[in-house]
Amino acid sequence: MYRALLADTLPELRGRIAAAAARAGRDPGEVRVVAVTKGHPLAAVDAAVAAGLDRLGENRIGELEEKAGLVEAGTVEWHMIGRLQRRVAPRVRGLASLVHSLDSLGLAARLERMAPPGAPPLPVLVQVNVSGEATKSGFAPGELPAALEVLLDLGSLEVRGLMTMAPFTRDERTLRATFRSLRRLAEEAALRFPGYRGKELSMGMSNDYECAVEEGSTILRVGSAIFGRRP
Ligand SMILES: *Cc1c(COP(=O)(O)O)cnc(C)c1O
Repeated sequence: MYRALLADTLPELRGRIAAAAARAGRDPGEVRVVAVTKGHPLAAVDAAVAAGLDRLGENRIGELEEKAGLVEAGTVEWHMIGRLQRRVAPRVRGLASLVHSLDSLGLAARLERMAPPGAPPLPVLVQVNVSGEATKSGFAPGELPAALEVLLDLGSLEVRGLMTMAPFTRDERTLRATFRSLRRLAEEAALRFPGYRGKELSMGMSNDYECAVEEGSTILRVGSAIFGRRP
């Protein structure tokens, strides 16, 4: 069932990404897709792998461990996109190629403290709560410079960029403003911190990825537009 579904959804997704990139004068090759398999059974993962998707995302550490354990190592990159509970957070190291959801200094401190000696730095994105919704986690935009000051000094983390979740709305002005703000924050960070090389902007989900591509996203996190509604 998932294989047949992906035969429809992937060409459509790729076409829309290419069209959005063209509207913005961007190379569609700059935009990567993390296929979000959370909530779907292993059959979705198998279909994704068969379709050549090589970046998969999960939002819970237990589900990530379970699915990653069932896929041949090295076949796909796993991305942690959901909130990391501090207690279990260290388990993400060695499992996720990129953590999109570094949302507090407490979490960062815990990851730093629990890093095995000599471990390679864990690639992370700093989550920013651009829209300020109480239900969303992440640093407030105004807190970001001070947070980066701390984060860029931690030897066990490597900040690769920023991530945000836009409000769930069809209102294009709101979406665009959210994505544009994240891009501006990244530009400001690049000016403020000369050694900072965080080029990634993880923004755009099923509801809003075309707008995100137009506004400079480099990583889309797409679930339902690929795999259908979560069962
Ligand atoms: C679930 C989830 C997504 C994907 O959502 P869809 O609307 O299914 O594309 C993206 N990002 C995060 C952080 C998520 O939790």
